[in-house]
Amino acid sequence: MNERLLKAVDDRVDDLVALTADLIRFPTINPPGEAYRPCAEYIGARLKRRGFGIEFIRAEGTPGDTDRYPRVNVVARFDGRSTGACVHFNSHIDVVEAGEGWSLDPFAGTVRDGRVYGRGACDMKGGLAASIIAAEAFMEVFPDFPGAIEISGTVDEESGGFGGVAHLAKLGYFSAPKVDHVIIPEPLNKDRICLGHRGVWWAEIETKGEIAHGSMPFLGDNAVRHMGAVLQAFENELFPALDRKMTRMPVVPEGAKRSTMNINSIHGGQTEDFRPGLPSPNVPDWCRLTIDRRFLLEEDLGTVKSEVTDILERLKRERKKFDYEIRDLMEVLPLMTERDAPVVKAVAQGIMEIFDREPDYVISPGTYDQKHIARIGHIYDCIAYGPGILDLAHRPDEWVGISDMVESAKVMAIGLNVLLRGTAAG
Ligand SMILES: [Zn+2]
Repeated sequence: MNERLLKAVDDRVDDLVALTADLIRFPTINPPGEAYRPCAEYIGARLKRRGFGIEFIRAEGTPGDTDRYPRVNVVARFDGRSTGACVHFNSHIDVVEAGEGWSLDPFAGTVRDGRVYGRGACDMKGGLAASIIAAEAFMEVFPDFPGAIEISGTVDEESGGFGGVAHLAKLGYFSAPKVDHVIIPEPLNKDRICLGHRGVWWAEIETKGEIAHGSMPFLGDNAVRHMGAVLQAFENELFPALDRKMTRMPVVPEGAKRSTMNINSIHGGQTEDFRPGLPSPNVPDWCRLTIDRRFLLEEDLGTVKSEVTDILERLKRERKKFDYEIRDLMEVLPLMTERDAPVVKAVAQGIMEIFDREPDYVISPGTYDQKHIARIGHIYDCIAYGPGILDLAHRPDEWVGISDMVESAKVMAIGLNVLLRGTAAG
């Protein structure tokens, strides 16, 4: 236990709260990508005062990037007195829209009853603030530390991360030898380590038909009825089969330990734009369905796809005039960092010291920026760890607990000590 390090965090509680509230006051709503530049500049200015080297990287040409809504990322780096490993804290600065149902201003950064309220308080400006405080406390107590600390504020995580971590990873910001260990302070709770996420396959299925007058449907071929046959086969065969697949991955919540598929949308025939008029009497000659399949470490993407295409092929053989197309929209492989990876062990040590118990190891049901760090940057020593309760994310009256942020900052500071100085003690 390092008393000086923990005290250095405790001495910064007011700063931590003020920093979190300040970050919330930038309404970094995505879409469209509001206030990215001033938020990134605020983070850069603060870390520059602490001696970090600052880079702003605009992801020009990525989805949504315009002069009105530039995708501006900030990367800050502090090199220690001697060479060594680099620990990188990566937080996304974008938030989802506030939505309805708030009892207070979502962008005021209100501090009340031991909590900081606002859109992004928990997901994940509280985590970003905790990582900054952890780094500053560590640097003050151990000014001679070897290695380097990096802190990034990146955009567009909520829309896939293409103008954020994916863009930086392509430029080499998330690769050895620049970076060795990555901690993403997403709100997974202060005593849990998130090792990765399930896989994703999004696809669009289209059934074909033949247009005809609605009074004589026998003259055409109804694409919506063909899609009905697809859905029926999914209900009878695919969903029960997915429900039987269980993973060894510690996914939370429990229901996400199975394979799942969501039907995101279905559209067919005439669009609904005719409202408030009347639909035209046509046999629909197209119907499109979007599926969102989440898969497990034990499944491979080829099999995941063939479970769907086998059904479509069979319908093509058995059902008169059935024809289809399928298009991939997104593919992300499942990820799970091993429990004996250095960053996992270092943060686990911090959790044991602060909470006097072993951490829970979890896997996220959905993906986050770790996918780009692994796939593009080829860094596998990466976890998500941060304060805040995931269930509060994206909801009205979102908040983060001040004591949770303080405890998480202590865990992060101990993690830095283990990874950079090779010791939890002073
Ligand atoms: Zn998040």
